[in-house]
Amino acid sequence: MSDSEAAAEGDTTLDTADLPFRVMPAVTVDNEHFWTGGEHGELRILRCQACGYWIHPPAPICPQCLGKDVVPEATSGRATVLTWTINRQPWYPDLDPPYVVAIVELPEQSGLRLTTNIVELDPEDIDFGLEVRVTFLEYPDSGGSVWLPMFSPVNHV
Ligand SMILES: [Zn+2]
Repeated sequence: MSDSEAAAEGDTTLDTADLPFRVMPAVTVDNEHFWTGGEHGELRILRCQACGYWIHPPAPICPQCLGKDVVPEATSGRATVLTWTINRQPWYPDLDPPYVVAIVELPEQSGLRLTTNIVELDPEDIDFGLEVRVTFLEYPDSGGSVWLPMFSPVNHV
């Protein structure tokens, strides 16, 4: 008798029932573009219009040229995993471990990094340089909704 139940890998849909991360961001006028870009499927980062430098975390002045003309622009939404930690402890009542907290780097600029969650991936399968793309989880917030940017493997099937 074959008992091989090829570990059910069917359902990859993000379900709010098993959201891995529920710490809400503090949305301000300076970072609103970042938290709401997901409504349009865009990972938006401030970019200096004078020199093209991407600025994250958001700042009102470009650290490269001190230009003040910084505007949110959509990135490619792609990234690679630099490093990560697998959290197995239920630090928050709402968090279901294990989940992956990772630092990813965007291809737009060396050093342009985000701390995020990697989803749609078995935490044991994460690796350095893993190519990921942004995906958004909408959460209701007091002032509307926020779209938390998370990343899932590009080659996910
Ligand atoms: Zn600049």
